[in-house]
Amino acid sequence: MDQADVDIVIVGAGVLGINQLYRARRDGYSVLLLEQGGGVGGTWYWNRYPGCRFDSESYTYGYLFSEQLWRDWEWSEEFAGQPETERYLNHVVDRFDLRRYIRLGSRVTSAEWDEATRTWTTRTEDGFEARSTYLISTTGVLSVPQYPDVPGRETFAGEQHHTGAWPDSPVAIEGRRIAVVGTGSSGVQIAPVVAEQAASVTVYQRTPSWCTPLNNHPITARQQAELKESFTRIRDALAVAVAGFLHESSGRRTFDDSKEQRWEFYETIWNSPGFAKLSSNYEDMMLDPKANGEWCEFLEEKIRALVADPAVADLLVPDHGYGGLRPPFVTGYYEMFNRPNVELVSTRRTPMLRLTETGIETTDGLRPFDLVVWATGFDFGTGAMRRMGIRGVDGLPLNEYWADGPRTFLGVMCHRFPNFFFPGGPHGAAGNNPRYGGDQVDFVADLLNHARDRGERRVEVPLETERRWAATMEKALPRSTFVEHGQYYGTNVPGKPRRFLLNPAGRPVLLRVMAKTIEGGYAGFLD
Ligand code: NAP
Repeated sequence: MDQADVDIVIVGAGVLGINQLYRARRDGYSVLLLEQGGGVGGTWYWNRYPGCRFDSESYTYGYLFSEQLWRDWEWSEEFAGQPETERYLNHVVDRFDLRRYIRLGSRVTSAEWDEATRTWTTRTEDGFEARSTYLISTTGVLSVPQYPDVPGRETFAGEQHHTGAWPDSPVAIEGRRIAVVGTGSSGVQIAPVVAEQAASVTVYQRTPSWCTPLNNHPITARQQAELKESFTRIRDALAVAVAGFLHESSGRRTFDDSKEQRWEFYETIWNSPGFAKLSSNYEDMMLDPKANGEWCEFLEEKIRALVADPAVADLLVPDHGYGGLRPPFVTGYYEMFNRPNVELVSTRRTPMLRLTETGIETTDGLRPFDLVVWATGFDFGTGAMRRMGIRGVDGLPLNEYWADGPRTFLGVMCHRFPNFFFPGGPHGAAGNNPRYGGDQVDFVADLLNHARDRGERRVEVPLETERRWAATMEKALPRSTFVEHGQYYGTNVPGKPRRFLLNPAGRPVLLRVMAKTIEGGYAGFLD
């Protein structure tokens, strides 16, 4: 088969793509999902590096559309590792008989709207062509690996891999000299795991991260039983949770407590799971720089207590506020620097000059390696969609419409691109990905059903509606962050317009605007 004619083409078999496919089948559409990888799972297919795991609680990350699925699938750990998550997503695909609608090895190279026939034509690298009424890109925010612009990468004779494109076949770790470049969530996850077996691990750090413990643990038989009985309660709580987690808000403000009380509270937060460091912390921690500074002071004390060499600890303490850059949650990261086989190199102090045939050269010399791990991030938010050759009304390229940064409504659709949707897209993201992303999947599915019920087959968000969402994003921005660089601003990708790519107004506003749009009968969306 080298062509198809369906109601819906979905691109990307990650968490949201599988969800959208499930909805499309449930709602009775003919559908084809194109996936460039050799398997399903998206992020959980590509990021198969050692140590990759959730930092959302496993059961808050999985699908909530089937109670039986919830009851039957038992997560082994509070924060499951990549292999388990990949197995879960494959299980869902098979359980709901979705695999037959998925075409693997299908990298989309163009997708064009034709106004006369009101169809999208989507083409893949291997010459496949699909015509559809609707095109839904669920290509993820973190799917295009970003490599640093360091000369000589191609001259390195050893092995090198990006964490976001880790090979399917085993990569030897034991007894090897390994460089880990980058100390975001991926770098700080892989380094301690490979340090256990490698001859040496050299961590190249430019910007240190504020790392706090993940506090993972196995899910006991008793907790499994409780989880099974709590489906409705947990589903309903997650449906409205601000960031899509179960963590309780503290209801406390930093300076209402004495310093002693604060330190005691911070200790509880330090020992709490994953993102509770953000969602259960003092409520002003992310809003008031002074409150943020107190938490950072506590964290600095922790780093200095955990790292034996004060000179190394000096390098590991960040000079930015907590939460502006996405904070990682770790297991044994700081402790790793006490091992004799681990070295920290600050590329701020000794910048990276080049790769040679044998290793990495910085201003303080050449270090030889067998394996270089690029944990250097992604072209966040818009990377995949900007590479798909998408053209809307009058052949308008999406890249032209987004030349100054993305313009979207709810992070799911944009004006001049009728019948095109992208749940999980820029200006939608707020917290636990499958939760707000699931809201977006359902919004799109409901909108398609609404159009079908009215016998319509053209859906486009009015310009004014798109502008209102942009204004909402703009207005919320000043309250939401302390740092104005990194992936969330696109500044890690040379030439990318500097724009905040998350949804700073948060999930409650996303849900409110969705509800209003539905209540208003999607005014102006249908021809
Ligand atoms: P990232 O957060 O963008 O971190 C990339 C790192 O590479 C940064 O430390 C960056 O430093 C560094 N870097 C880039 N170029 C460099 C160079 N030339 N020399 C030295 N360092 C360089 O990417 P990531 O760690 O892959 O994480 C991306 C996102 O994936 C996370 O924000 C998170 O959403 C997700 N993630 C989640 C988990 C999880 O636990 N569930 C795990 C991994 C990833 P600068 O900051 O100085 O640019």
